[in-house]
Amino acid sequence: ALRSGGNDVSYFDVTVGQAHARRVELARNLEHAIARDELTLVMQPQLSADGRRLIGGEALLRWQTNGKFVSPAEFIPVAEESGLILEIGDWVLDRACQMTAHYRELGLTDLVIAINISPRQFMQEGFVERVNQVLETYQLPPSSIELEITESTIMDNEDGGMKMLQELKQLGVSLAIDDFGTGYSSLSYLKQFPVDKLKIDRSFIQSIDVSTDDQAIVLSLCQLAKNLNLSVLAEGVESQPQLDVLAQFNCDAIQGYFFSKPLADSDFINFSLRYLAD
Ligand code: C2E
Ligand code: CA
Ligand code: CA
Ligand code: CA
Repeated sequence: ALRSGGNDVSYFDVTVGQAHARRVELARNLEHAIARDELTLVMQPQLSADGRRLIGGEALLRWQTNGKFVSPAEFIPVAEESGLILEIGDWVLDRACQMTAHYRELGLTDLVIAINISPRQFMQEGFVERVNQVLETYQLPPSSIELEITESTIMDNEDGGMKMLQELKQLGVSLAIDDFGTGYSSLSYLKQFPVDKLKIDRSFIQSIDVSTDDQAIVLSLCQLAKNLNLSVLAEGVESQPQLDVLAQFNCDAIQGYFFSKPLADSDFINFSLRYLAD
């Protein structure tokens, strides 16, 4: 409708312009998010594939500004681009460890809390030291947290990425490769990575109850993990039929709406205490 004459701005230019304006606005507001106390972490339970055991939870960031929630899928890339992710990521690390310490005080000592680490954060000077410092601040055994890092974060930094993983592993934290299957298929590298877990991306799980292609992919990912002595978690499990297929494949752990959506801190505590009691 906007392209009526040769000199008019095209619809494409308008939407690109709007998207740009939105990102600029988000970046501006995001700068004050920590100071204004607008960030929170929710916690999504992770269970054994038979549903009997609560393994831990993944800390997921939420940002409420001007009364509205902005999706992390929208603001994390903005934060990454502007560099604000370093400050935000540090806040996440601190808060997630504080929550972990609280869970431990309540007797939930077996839970492992997974924390998402952004590419820039991962390669930041002094990151390993920072993790060590936060663990000490909250008196946490390193094994009580797990850092989630994507394949591309590691691969984009070739030698540096491997060195970071080794240093983190030495610290004693658990390491998971997030969104596995969506990045480079660097299978030859995988065996060299000192990681503990693969998280199979939700895109492979979504249709696993009906798609034989996805079944073949996920089965081979599960077998690959087993052969490399890695634990394997399926993300985004929403139904019993999906769960049944995954159990058949000897997938170790499950995360998804079928068991629970990400929960506010106090709800996660109630959820966990109930599991501990049963
Ligand atoms: P992710 O790390 O892959 O996190 C899983 C996403 O899947 C979460 O979205 C979660 O709410 C959603 N999810 C979990 N189970 C289901 C399910 O059964 N069905 C469906 N449809 N979705 C499910 P969320 O919280 O919107 O986060 C989106 C992404 O934002 C995350 O993807 C992660 O890449 C990033 N992110 C979130 N929190 C942080 C953070 O603290 N730091 C960094 N660097 N990135 C974060
Ligand atoms: Ca994640
Ligand atoms: Ca993921
Ligand atoms: Ca994902």
